[in-house]
Amino acid sequence: MKTSIILPTGSTVTSGDPVVELEHVSFDHGSERVLDEVSLRIGRGDFLGIIGPNGSGKTTLLKVLLGLLRPASGQITLFGSGVRVFREWARIGYVPQKATAFDARFPASVLEVVLSGRSGVAGMGRRFGERDRAAAEDALETVGMLELRARPIGRLSAGQQQRVFIARALASRPELLLLDEPTVGVDVDAQEQFYSLLRRLNREFGTTLVLVSHDVSVVAGEVTHLACLNRRLVFHGSPEEAMRSGALAQLYRAESLVVAHHH
Ligand code: ADP
Repeated sequence: MKTSIILPTGSTVTSGDPVVELEHVSFDHGSERVLDEVSLRIGRGDFLGIIGPNGSGKTTLLKVLLGLLRPASGQITLFGSGVRVFREWARIGYVPQKATAFDARFPASVLEVVLSGRSGVAGMGRRFGERDRAAAEDALETVGMLELRARPIGRLSAGQQQRVFIARALASRPELLLLDEPTVGVDVDAQEQFYSLLRRLNREFGTTLVLVSHDVSVVAGEVTHLACLNRRLVFHGSPEEAMRSGALAQLYRAESLVVAHHH
């Protein structure tokens, strides 16, 4: 079923059935309002980029969406269920920020890291079986890292580690994949590989993607939908509409103001 969403800007964009719905979600860190009345609907098959200056609430939004942080007010619905009662976590993959910034002496192998992504399917504390192993190897194949499955995770480049953490998120075969600033510290070649992997996941497997980034220029060229966040949702629509509406220019101005403020 296709639904038509009325955007705050008055234009429309079509999306599949909602996978995520946020309604008037607000969140405070202490006395600081970090998310202010954010309403956002993510449709099945969307590739959504969430952009905004540093401190605009992007990471907080993902954590609230996943039920890791509890909002001060508002409703969050995942696959039709309220986030507080939602239990099908294997349907969602999450690659947190700085997933790759850990000690090089960390003893786990690539395959072990990816297998740990199966615990939502296998059940916590249960032993992994043949199906888990096959799914983990499939995920490693998808990201082009199967050959290095026995390598200690600490002995990989940043770009390779990033692919392993994406494979970990893919191991449960999620319908929705959330990635927080995944290209930080990754070189240009690895970035190009990363975006081509995302395109494949989105187009071939129909995975709904949510990518948080401050890299506006790159992200706008890849995604089907853009959400511009500055504690409030400034814009949600197609990248083309974002350009036309001046939302991006506004956000950039806001960013230069933030930078100026810090100096
Ligand atoms: P972004 O991901 O867009 O950079 P964040 O969601 O990380 O933004 O942060 C939004 C705001 O919330 C920032 O002002 C940040 O200082 C504040 N913040 C984030 N985490 C915490 C925390 N654990 N305690 C207090 N304030 C926080």
